[in-house]
Amino acid sequence: MAAEDRNHGVLLGKYELGRQLGHGTFAKVYHARNLQTGKSVAMKMVGKEKVIKVGMTDQIQREISVMKMVRHPNIVELHEVMASKSNIYFAMELVRGGELFSKIEKGRLREDVARSYFQQLISAVDFCHSRGVYHRDLKPENLLLDEEGNLKVTDFGLSAFSDHLRQDGLLHTTCGTPAYVAPEVIGKKGYDGAKADIWSCGVILYVLLAGFLPFRDENIIAMYKKIYRGDFKCPPWFSSDARRLITKLLDPNPNSRITISKVMESPWFKKAAPRKPKFLDEDEFANLKGKEGESLNAFHIISLSEGFDLSPLFEEKKREEKREIRFATMKSAGAVVSKLEEVAKVGKFSVKKSKDESSLWLQGHENGRKGRLGISADIFAVTPSFLVVEVKKSSGDTLEYNQFCSKELRPALKDIVWTSPANLA
Ligand code: AMP
Repeated sequence: MAAEDRNHGVLLGKYELGRQLGHGTFAKVYHARNLQTGKSVAMKMVGKEKVIKVGMTDQIQREISVMKMVRHPNIVELHEVMASKSNIYFAMELVRGGELFSKIEKGRLREDVARSYFQQLISAVDFCHSRGVYHRDLKPENLLLDEEGNLKVTDFGLSAFSDHLRQDGLLHTTCGTPAYVAPEVIGKKGYDGAKADIWSCGVILYVLLAGFLPFRDENIIAMYKKIYRGDFKCPPWFSSDARRLITKLLDPNPNSRITISKVMESPWFKKAAPRKPKFLDEDEFANLKGKEGESLNAFHIISLSEGFDLSPLFEEKKREEKREIRFATMKSAGAVVSKLEEVAKVGKFSVKKSKDESSLWLQGHENGRKGRLGISADIFAVTPSFLVVEVKKSSGDTLEYNQFCSKELRPALKDIVWTSPANLA
């Protein structure tokens, strides 16, 4: 750690530095504590000479500012970027569960376990791509696990550094293995960041399922050749759906390589994870099951986020009759409650809340055709930052309820509904 930036172990007057957590190709990562908030962070340090040598371009600055804004449950949050005379520091969310690949060192993963990680990886990658940020350097060291076993991708946006270093030839000397890098990236022809990331996801998926790399050779030139040709074999224990998907991911031609939206539609990807969503009790979980009794997981919720009522998972007709609105949001429960209170005010409803504010009841003041209109809203936390909200009529006339939904409720909720990145693109 650069001594000139520290004063009695305090970095830039703001962070108390702890032990080193790890090091990457061009950075060191330390445990640090924000002295103002007491919060622990992971502090990544990059020597400025490396950055200046290759130029801190607008692109890098833009990507960093994007990353400071984006929030996704599977992406390590970037809290703050600081600079001293000689270094750049990135204060990031501290991820405490270690690297995903330390699990694989103990042996390959079961297909359903690998799928759950791969789904989370694709969700993160898709989210960033929709915002114009490409990783370009996806590899095992960048896949961390939090204490609950959720996947967190690090270095999104920061990878612009490594990309520039690579152009400068620097990364070739330090990185050692091209195992995860797409053929067109090795070729330095100028490439599509999205396609390159998809290739890397293919290599990662292969490693999760096989326990070893798809392109292996003692001789690095021979390894390059295998990558160029897309020359790999799937071990016999891969299912046919997994084989099909991996073959499409590891297509050496970026133009015919599968897209993220097609990955998400593939049978192997779509198969439901057996895991239950967290933080839901049995009753709530039962409510969130689809027609076939299929468990709801984060990826169904992504399909929920297509807007309102579009999830293919649920019994559309029944919901249509009941006029139930169900949507996903990444806003806080407090923000959802405030939004519903705002709508209630406009529609002249009184509001009652459960003690924990996870349920709300809106009650109309005037008698309608079938008495007063009553609306209930339930908020479910699937992960701390990912909520599902269900709104339905509890009393009164359906027609009046429908009119209120289309005129007031739906337009107001648009602000907080999480729209899937595929829809934004
Ligand atoms: P990187 O330079 O991002 O490849 O990071 C190098 C190593 O530091 C990783 O492999 C992790 O072991 C550790 N590390 C990186 N980011 C974090 C983080 N946000 N929280 C905890 N450890 C991290």
